[in-house]
Amino acid sequence: MSTTTPRLTSQQRDALDAMGIDVWTRRTALAAQEAAVPDPAPATTARPAQWEILEREALACTKCALHGTRTRVVFGVGDRGASWMVIGEAPGADEDRQGEPFVGRAGQLLNEMLRAAGVSREQVYIANILKCRPPDNRDPRPEESASCEGYLQRQIELVRPGLLLAVGRIAAQNLLRVDTPIGQLRGQVHRYGPAAIPLVVTYHPAYLLRSPGQKRKSWEDLCLARATVPPLRTPASGPLLQAVPAKDER
Ligand code: SF4
Repeated sequence: MSTTTPRLTSQQRDALDAMGIDVWTRRTALAAQEAAVPDPAPATTARPAQWEILEREALACTKCALHGTRTRVVFGVGDRGASWMVIGEAPGADEDRQGEPFVGRAGQLLNEMLRAAGVSREQVYIANILKCRPPDNRDPRPEESASCEGYLQRQIELVRPGLLLAVGRIAAQNLLRVDTPIGQLRGQVHRYGPAAIPLVVTYHPAYLLRSPGQKRKSWEDLCLARATVPPLRTPASGPLLQAVPAKDER
């Protein structure tokens, strides 16, 4: 796959350094890019009641057996009006304890990946396929994913992201409903759901910690995502998608 490396700000270059990825950019281009970075659009306050109802339902959920072994439901975190929505697999031990997705070392690496793409953790919305931790970090079972998918679908409808970043094999295969290896899902823009939301696949940061030689590929994935949909909404850009009507609005 060949993806053009975008011009980078000094913050993005610092993040790439932290990831151990060397990228060369002309200094004049760097200065111009830093001057051109727009202020992030303010977070949306749309639909707070629907978010509250959904979160309350998830926090009390007993739809699958994982409710019996979880410490906390990991609902999701971030800007509910984000341009990018990051979707992972399921909570691990740290997430189960803290009630937040992508914390610990893998979470720190995800933060660096996002920073390299020019966006902070707080400026995306982050959720998982499963809201409760599978014991011993095993893969989600099909019946668990099926029980839980309604929560994620509703989150996507409420955020109305311009792009989904599927992080890891499990997230990508569940969202795309395929069993294709992740190496074959990377490097292209898929479409998700009735709104045909662009979806880009990349490696899970936990995998990148075990296989740092693959970080360069994750950078290529982020470049593809950035070229497809900017990671920040500007005040002038407005919603990136036509609204998907909620069930109670149809
Ligand atoms: S994993 Fe999802 S479906 Fe299962 S109990 Fe947790 S919130 Fe409910």
